[in-house]
Amino acid sequence: MSHNLFDTFADRMRARGDADFITTRKGRGYSYAEALEESAHLAGALRSLGVEPGDRVAVQVDKSPEAILLYLACLRMGGVYLPLNTGYTAEEIDYFLKDAKPALFVCRPENLEAAWRIATHRDSPRVTTLGRRADGELMELARKATPWDSVEPRETDDLAAILYTSGTTGRSKGAMLTHRNLASNAEALTRAWRFTESDRLIHALPIFHTHGLFVACNVVLMAGASMLFLPRFDLDTLIDELPRGTTMMGVPTFYTRLLQDKRLTPELTANMRLFTSGSAPLTAETHQAFEQRTGHAILERYGMTETNMNTSNPYDGERIAGTVGMPLPGVEVRVVDRDSREILPQGEIGILEVRGPNVFIGYWGMPDKTREELLEDGFFITGDLAMIDERGYVHIVGRDKDLVISGGYNVYPKEVEQVIDEMEAVVESAVIGVPHPDFGEGVTAIVVPRPGASLQEEGVLKALEGRLARYKQPKRVFFVDSLPRNTMGKVQKNQLRERYADIYT
Ligand code: ATP
Ligand code: MG
Repeated sequence: MSHNLFDTFADRMRARGDADFITTRKGRGYSYAEALEESAHLAGALRSLGVEPGDRVAVQVDKSPEAILLYLACLRMGGVYLPLNTGYTAEEIDYFLKDAKPALFVCRPENLEAAWRIATHRDSPRVTTLGRRADGELMELARKATPWDSVEPRETDDLAAILYTSGTTGRSKGAMLTHRNLASNAEALTRAWRFTESDRLIHALPIFHTHGLFVACNVVLMAGASMLFLPRFDLDTLIDELPRGTTMMGVPTFYTRLLQDKRLTPELTANMRLFTSGSAPLTAETHQAFEQRTGHAILERYGMTETNMNTSNPYDGERIAGTVGMPLPGVEVRVVDRDSREILPQGEIGILEVRGPNVFIGYWGMPDKTREELLEDGFFITGDLAMIDERGYVHIVGRDKDLVISGGYNVYPKEVEQVIDEMEAVVESAVIGVPHPDFGEGVTAIVVPRPGASLQEEGVLKALEGRLARYKQPKRVFFVDSLPRNTMGKVQKNQLRERYADIYT
């Protein structure tokens, strides 16, 4: 029996026939029947370009329905889909192509010459193009090629995709994801979040990342639902479309931006049944403000490139602000001590480890790193600090790499940030550890003040006195207009640490 994830999707696609699968604002799109057929044409095109089952197909293209059909075509013919951030420069792409050694590189038509310039070494991939309006060579080839009507048999542990991590803490790593990894998570999420054929997902996320690609698209395919593909997050467009959607998956910045707009009301969101949030921490403040304004409790979940989704707040039970909920069915979590690696009792903060059918099989080309982080008993060291409360809800406290150790004491940046963020004159903050001659690291706060607010360093420091133990109080406070964030809304603390590296020396 084949375990190709595409077989599962194909059953749903046949059953849904003429129903909408994917549409755009401009009225372009594909029904399920059309998507099924087009995936065979594109799979034929991939074969005509020399891609064999097991080969990697690297893709750096703009978001479009065809890019999703290319993902499906790749699964169908047994290829390994390898999407790349659209923001990467030619130099960065050069690194990824050398690292991943794909058989084919699909780029934007306007990047073709740059791609040729970098794809000159011995293992260079073939290069073809796909544009955001279905232009480029690939769609042409798809029209001419003999359709690949069958589905290549795959084992559960065969690779379906290699997805690079966001590079928040260092150079991106290629996570090897199997057909089982993707299928098990798509099934778990579809059930947990009650996705059905009647759902219409508003899709405003990028599709080179696990959130917009696997969480969103695989769940829609699993449920036979439909999705509206928006090129990016745009406030006006979203407000225009919310009345015709039933669900939206967002990163926290989607919600903070929506909250800044007066048009966000219960009426606007009356047709919506579910808003989810992930990829970065949603503050309890945003969660509560959104519920007050719309009546919807945002459902926060937690996952990563290497593991797909691990935990989720409940659909029916209480969605607790500031928590990421409980492990999904089949997923196990445990919290271990940073130093001794012993399993900690409930209520204590340590490193979160996860195990389950969702967990990847290793980092591409990094056997040592894989051995370090993927333990023999199957648990993966997430690198996130967490605590499990008495009701079983997981609280993500921050990243282990962001933990500040000052004078021998552990300072969890989130705890300090929460207190700073409560100040009337503060929009948000990031707390980092900076090398300090006496303390090892000095707690340092980078604060975004509200426009027009006159906030001074002393004012912030005064406000924290008595609220936080002395060792947790920042030694210095700096003001900036905005925090550096990547496309998924993750604060890039690495950049901040570099920028303020010399302040205590
Ligand atoms: P890199 O591993 O390359 O440094 P990254 O960890 O940001 O980058 P991703 O796999 O995209 O790459 O992100 C996973 C991380 O995002 C998690 O380890 C966690 O730190 C964070 N994250 C995801 N969802 C949540 C959430 N709901 N709350 C808090 N953090 C979250
Ligand atoms: Mg990571």
